[in-house]
Amino acid sequence: MDFPVPIAEDLAIALGIAQGESAFILKPHVVENDRITNVNAFVSRLAHLPKPEQDAILSEFSAKYLPAMMDRWATDLLPTTGFPREYFVLVNGYFWAVRIIYRLPYFGKFLMSKEPIAAPGKHFVTSLGARLTLFGLFHLPLPTEPPLQEGIEDFYLHPVFLAVTMLATILCMSSKRIERGKRVDISNEVLNSLLSLLDAWRNQRGHQDLADASNQLHWLLSSRSDDTRQCSRAMRKFYDNSSQCGLPGCEETENLKACARCLTVYYCCPEHQRAHWNSKESPPHKPVCFQTAY
Ligand SMILES: [Zn+2]
Ligand SMILES: [Zn+2]
Repeated sequence: MDFPVPIAEDLAIALGIAQGESAFILKPHVVENDRITNVNAFVSRLAHLPKPEQDAILSEFSAKYLPAMMDRWATDLLPTTGFPREYFVLVNGYFWAVRIIYRLPYFGKFLMSKEPIAAPGKHFVTSLGARLTLFGLFHLPLPTEPPLQEGIEDFYLHPVFLAVTMLATILCMSSKRIERGKRVDISNEVLNSLLSLLDAWRNQRGHQDLADASNQLHWLLSSRSDDTRQCSRAMRKFYDNSSQCGLPGCEETENLKACARCLTVYYCCPEHQRAHWNSKESPPHKPVCFQTAY
């Protein structure tokens, strides 16, 4: 089936957070599986676009719809079919949407904002941690020796890998804020279960990516806050563009000023901001610059 080039509103409609016509509504939203189908139709069409175009579409979506989406993530799961409902508590339509936007600076901006669902900046981390734990506990015990049951990799280990990576990335991103006194708000009970699950996943033979990601998240969650400071700067840059001038090639880190419109990128001087706005050498800032309500 041929889909048109997607726009930001298509994802909002596929998620059910905006009304309207969209080629990506393959099924009306009756069960959660339908929302997943629609979101994944959007995601696979988007994947065919060049990266800068993907970023522009997803930045616009994030600027406009992140508060609505995260509100639904917290409250709105349709009836489900096929797998047990515990599966969809983690792996729902919103999960697949978060997966493609969580590395954008808008996601970090939202998590740190005063939006009720984001305040005090960590509710998404808390719920993602709790849902990953529920999902993991539900599916244990998992055989540690291959061969695994057919399909279990796609349906179990892949979402686990994605959720573990998301959590680790977001925790790295927020490590700077932790220094400023804000704590990651995962309850001790969830934390202890999650740590033992991560122990099992980091010993999962034949799944090196999952083992590495689990190892990293285990370290992040079990370290004291002053240890998380050592978290790699490269990962933090996914979110925290304030650490370096936004013009590619400029490594200035002092006296940076935010782009007044989006507040997601910082520059050392007005000349570099102007050079980046319509840059030909690197992806320009203009197509990903949006004002947000958060
Ligand atoms: Zn600069
Ligand atoms: Zn901007």
